[in-house]
Amino acid sequence: VVDTVGLVREHVGAARAKGRSIALVPTMGALHAGHLSLIEAARSRDAYTVVSIFVNPTQFGPNEDLAAYPNTLEADIDACRRAGVELVFAPSVAEMYPAFDQTRVHPGLLADTMCGVSRPGHFVGVCTVVAKLLNIVQPDFAVFGQKDAQQALIIRRMVADLFMPVEIVVAPIVREADGLAMSSRNAYLAPQERAQAKCLHRALKAGAAALSAGTMDESTLRAVMRAEIAETLGESEADERIDYLVAVDAETLQSIARDTPQVLLAGAIRFGQARLIDNLLVDPPGRAG
Ligand code: AMP
Repeated sequence: VVDTVGLVREHVGAARAKGRSIALVPTMGALHAGHLSLIEAARSRDAYTVVSIFVNPTQFGPNEDLAAYPNTLEADIDACRRAGVELVFAPSVAEMYPAFDQTRVHPGLLADTMCGVSRPGHFVGVCTVVAKLLNIVQPDFAVFGQKDAQQALIIRRMVADLFMPVEIVVAPIVREADGLAMSSRNAYLAPQERAQAKCLHRALKAGAAALSAGTMDESTLRAVMRAEIAETLGESEADERIDYLVAVDAETLQSIARDTPQVLLAGAIRFGQARLIDNLLVDPPGRAG
């Protein structure tokens, strides 16, 4: 476990000198089975696996949950050790953002929709910290979760646009038995909210069923998804708590058309203190594969 850029470079340099390929799995800690699946994806390629644990302040808005974000560092380190992670990088804020730190990475259009609307500046913080981590570790590949679909697209775009020599691997969403996508923020849910929270995945599945039955109209798909949420939360609560529900082109996040090759159904809903996100990728009928 190291907390400085210099020590990361030393350890990673030694592993590279032994001929290992290097993987980076960036996290904010409070590790769960979703994170472990990313680690497994790295390990399955026999890479020297570096997990970063850093609650990045620049990706939180002023009224968001930075101060409340769960911190379980000792348990996270144990989980990493059991999962065969070679190096944990758990830096301080001052290590990642030293005095006079100025530069920010602006992702552009892909960040102007979905989570970017209710979290202005969020993806600037994400891109900036991921660029820093990629430059610190210089991995051959980095693993991200499809859980944060918009984030994964934005990171892919950043790496391509800035000619960063790293492969981006995106691993599937790991879910609880009732379909709820695993998230460190699920810890915020009161029992009743936890019971309600599965309606988000149900709504996405209803949208996917409609899409597979040939509905390629965004507002119809949105209505189908909203109806599932309203069934659990009631009509007015649904409107109050839904941040967004969208059916968009999975590559561009723009409006779908008849010939859109793959559709991303995605949503964000507030349950008490938690804002939960989830998504499904769907191939429209006749276009699978
Ligand atoms: P976080 O610690 O929430 O910033 O997440 C770190 C990484 O884990 C991101 O690439 C997330 O997309 C990924 N991740 C979080 N939850 C899940 C999940 N349920 N399934 C797969 N990946 C996940």
